[in-house]
Amino acid sequence: MTNAKPRGQSLYEEACEVIPGGVNSATRYVGRPYAFTGADGAYITDADGGRYVDYHAAFGAILLGHNEPLVNDAVRGALDGVDLIGAGVTPIEIEFAKLICSVIPSAEMVTNAMSGSEATAYAIRLARAETGRSLIVKFQGGYHGWHDAVARNVISPPSLAYGMDPVSAGILEQALTSTLIAEFNDLSSVQALFDEHPEQIAAVILEPIPHNVGALLPTQEFVEGLRSLTSSAGALLIFDEVITGFRHTLGGYQSVCGITPDLTTFGKAVANGFPLAGLAGPRSLMSRFTSAGGDVALLGTFNGYPIGCAAGIATVSYLRDNPSFYARTETLGERMRSGLRSIVDEFGFAGQVRGFGSVFVLYFMDAPVLGYRDLMRNDDKAYLEFHRRMADAGFFMLPMSLKRNHVSGAHTEDDIDRTLEASRDVLKGML
Ligand code: PLP
Repeated sequence: MTNAKPRGQSLYEEACEVIPGGVNSATRYVGRPYAFTGADGAYITDADGGRYVDYHAAFGAILLGHNEPLVNDAVRGALDGVDLIGAGVTPIEIEFAKLICSVIPSAEMVTNAMSGSEATAYAIRLARAETGRSLIVKFQGGYHGWHDAVARNVISPPSLAYGMDPVSAGILEQALTSTLIAEFNDLSSVQALFDEHPEQIAAVILEPIPHNVGALLPTQEFVEGLRSLTSSAGALLIFDEVITGFRHTLGGYQSVCGITPDLTTFGKAVANGFPLAGLAGPRSLMSRFTSAGGDVALLGTFNGYPIGCAAGIATVSYLRDNPSFYARTETLGERMRSGLRSIVDEFGFAGQVRGFGSVFVLYFMDAPVLGYRDLMRNDDKAYLEFHRRMADAGFFMLPMSLKRNHVSGAHTEDDIDRTLEASRDVLKGML
């Protein structure tokens, strides 16, 4: 008889002694003491040897697959080059910026940072400086990072999900009240805010597909309306493409819907799991940064980080040179979605399968799913139970209800089909 604990449990307890809550980001504790020790292609391995097909994909940062050799080789190569100088510029930063400008429609210039939160913080500050106005509009359910300006109405009421609203204590009241909330796909809710606050709104920021609540798809009328509303009100339109960028197409969702935002933020998948994010926009706006003699601070020790740039160049060049990547991952995404739909229909339960490209989500609710308000009917507990049972069967999905799952370049038809088989068993067991 032994009382040895599984290694994952021991590592978790060890972590709790030195890392708050045992995890380095609040959304990483998923109700169980997971500790991971390996990742390869479409698979992740936990500390007790459990192997999972991974659809979490580090919240979507893994696009080509875990430990993709072409990216890792580029990083290894960069390790022997310039590490970090902190003065001037390095050739790799120029190469990365040129590549981004060649693929994102709204990008004439680009600057890069380590995280999506930094990118959206830059974008908002730039918009406020440019317009001389203080208010920002975001959408209910949209997530744009952890910083004060956007730290509210991510998922609310919070009872529906994991969090708090605002997402943190310690935020100045003025930061929260300077951010106004509109309803996604409801242009009149945006118009009403512009009417209520004439000449006070600096920018409207949105995830063009709000993947932080799964996959609400924007109507074309909505994105076109946002473009004309912001332009005529003298406000900027910011597309936060931290998730949609590079995942759905090379040019981001703006190249799908044909709308050119004033500013674009990107991150996550751009460097296939290495820390890199950025802000892109027209020369006229980007020249406001202090680096170009303007008045908006552009600062950051690790900005232009060569290792991140190397990973970004390898990832984006691969996507540019292999356009079939998107057709393939979309086909796999569609295989998953239609398979899940058949299972839902077979058992006749209230489930809605949604998604776009390589992204899929199963809402535990009945139709329709058009705007955020519809998501209030989602059965959070049922999703978490589905997640738990799927993990037990060796398939790791995003452990938060109302989020999305990701197919990567490393998944195969066989992975999808086995996932569907397991989903069928799990959902049948939940009836
Ligand atoms: N914007 C969106 C749409 C995101 O989903 C996220 C992170 O999930 C961010 C910004 C913030 O990025 P990061 O976590 O790299 O700071």
